[in-house]
Parts: sequence; structure tokens; C-alpha cells
Amino acid sequence: KLPVVAIVGRPNVGKSTLFNRLVGKKLALVDDRPGVTRDRREGDAHLLGLDFRIIDTAGYEDEDPNTLPGRMRRQTEAAVADADVALFVVDGRAGVVPLDEEIARWLRGSNTPIVLTVNKAEGRAAEQGVLEALALGFGDPVQLSAEHGEGIGDLFEALLPYI
Ligand code: GDP
Ligand code: MG
Repeated sequence: KLPVVAIVGRPNVGKSTLFNRLVGKKLALVDDRPGVTRDRREGDAHLLGLDFRIIDTAGYEDEDPNTLPGRMRRQTEAAVADADVALFVVDGRAGVVPLDEEIARWLRGSNTPIVLTVNKAEGRAAEQGVLEALALGFGDPVQLSAEHGEGIGDLFEALLPYI
């Protein structure tokens, strides 16, 4: 049975882009509109010799990004609880926002190991976001560009202890 990795984070941070990069197919819908992934999606991922099952979690409702409506939140909570490790994705360009902190509080109480990643880290636009992410308390974040395929080696090293 393959180990399971769940991708979590607020809408629009690049979860589906990362999912697609790791699965290697356009399975998850990538969209500029926050919250466009309505259902959880799963695929077989491959990362520098690691094979695992990956889940792109549903996330949250469109209407109010500051609430975590019950049904989708429970689905995401279940995906994280069942995973061997969760990839917590924040947006390095937008920086850490209150919803990221709310998700961080929830994840701190979870028994699943968390790997913090700062996506959209290509170029220098994410430097401030990386510092803000560090303050979330999950250690040094893995800097990624899911869109450009950067940081894959660091992601491999961060996941290796758990899968
Ligand atoms: P999700 O809502 O978290 O699943 O986010 P998506 O994967 O749908 O991406 C949201 C937006 O961020 C899209 O416009 C993506 O093209 C963009 N995006 C994703 N990854 C990156 C990245 O590494 N760098 C930049 N600059 N944009 C990205
Ligand atoms: Mg998505």
C-alpha cells in the first residue's frame, strides 16, 4: 500500500498546481478563482524515486474565505488524519494571512506530521512570505514553485522521513 500525502492550505495558494506537478497529469482543476477545487482529488505521485498517493483537499467555500464550512472542512480533516504526512501550502507572494493562521492552529493539534511549504517562491517575491511562514511554527519552510518546478529536491528531502 502506498503512503499517503495530503495537500492542505487556503484557496489559491497553488495546491492543485502542486498536485498536477507531482502526478504529472492535469487531473486537478487549476483556476485563478479561490476555492475552485470542489472535490477532493487523488492520484499516484512520483517524486525523485518516491512513490505515494497524493490527495488535493477540497478546501473551503467561495463565499466567505474566513469560514471553514462544515462538510468540506470535515472532509479535509479526515484526509489529513488518514495521511502519513500533510503538505501545508502557503502563498509566498501573498504572505501569511489570517486564514493560514487558522489552518496552522488546526494542524498543530493534528497527529499527522506537517511539512510546511511556501509556494510561488520563484524569483525574490517570496522573501517576506518565507519569514512570515517561519513564524507559523512548523520549522523552516520548503520553498517551491509548483508552476515552474522549483524546489522539488528540497520537497523530496522534507517528505523522505515520513514516506
Ligand atoms: P489552489 O486553489 O490552492 O488549488 O490553487 P491553484 O493550483 O488553482 O493555483 C492558483 C493560482 O496560483 C493559479 O493562477 C496558478 O497558476 C497560480 N500558481 C500556482 N503555483 C504557482 C507558482 O509556483 N508560482 C506562481 N507565480 N503562481 C502559481
Ligand atoms: Mg485547487
